Amino acid sequence: MIGILCAMREELEPILEKVDVEDIVEYGKNRFYLAKFNNKNLVLAYSKIGKVNSATTATIMIEKFKAKKILFSGVAGGIDEDLKIGDLIIATKTCQHDIDLTVFGYPYGFIPESSIYFECDNELNNIAKNVAKKLKLKIKEGIIASGDQFIHSKEKKEWIKKTFNASAIEMEGGAVGCVCFTLNIPFFMLRAISDTAEEGAGVDFDEFLEESSKVSANFLIQMLKDIK
Ligand code: SAH
Repeated sequence: MIGILCAMREELEPILEKVDVEDIVEYGKNRFYLAKFNNKNLVLAYSKIGKVNSATTATIMIEKFKAKKILFSGVAGGIDEDLKIGDLIIATKTCQHDIDLTVFGYPYGFIPESSIYFECDNELNNIAKNVAKKLKLKIKEGIIASGDQFIHSKEKKEWIKKTFNASAIEMEGGAVGCVCFTLNIPFFMLRAISDTAEEGAGVDFDEFLEESSKVSANFLIQMLKDIK
């Protein structure tokens, strides 16, 4: 079973259109789609926005639906200069930029007995890079930082870049990465850029959410064919 997770309805819908949905299970005030694609069993859901919702949904996919891998697809704010709206990025690792225990001497993003970063699965990232090569698509690899805030300020964006060396920002990856690390589940994080997280990002987001969601969804579908 492969778990496919998004945050928002708009991110999941273009994936659902391409798979054969066989059953819908209501659980935990959410809807889990059981589907087949390319002879693979999938469980798909959108969690709603944010770290708690996405961590809850990832946990349910793993514990209740026995997902053996979690693949996230969605949109993000671009931090790196070379990331333009519509570009694809995969995470090498994820972190939570809104964790602040610095008064106790810890670095930003660090929780005692945990870690700042959660690694994404190398094998899945390699599959993504090969698919990109085959399709002649550009894909960037970098750190993706998450927090329960929509970032729309150059100053905040620069701070996140400097503090976490992040290439993109969103609101779920660090939480799902933490769940997958805790439960020993390979984790893959794919995002297409919807905005550049600066002043005006809200307007760009609304304009490009659908289009960028489709870019990410289409890529994920191509990739699924190559996943065992
Ligand atoms: N307009 C939406 C809310 C979008 S929140 C509504 O009214 O429902 C932004 C979503 O896209 C989150 O799921 C987050 O993961 C991602 N995202 C895209 N750009 C972002 C940014 N600049 N900062 C934080 N998250 C961003």
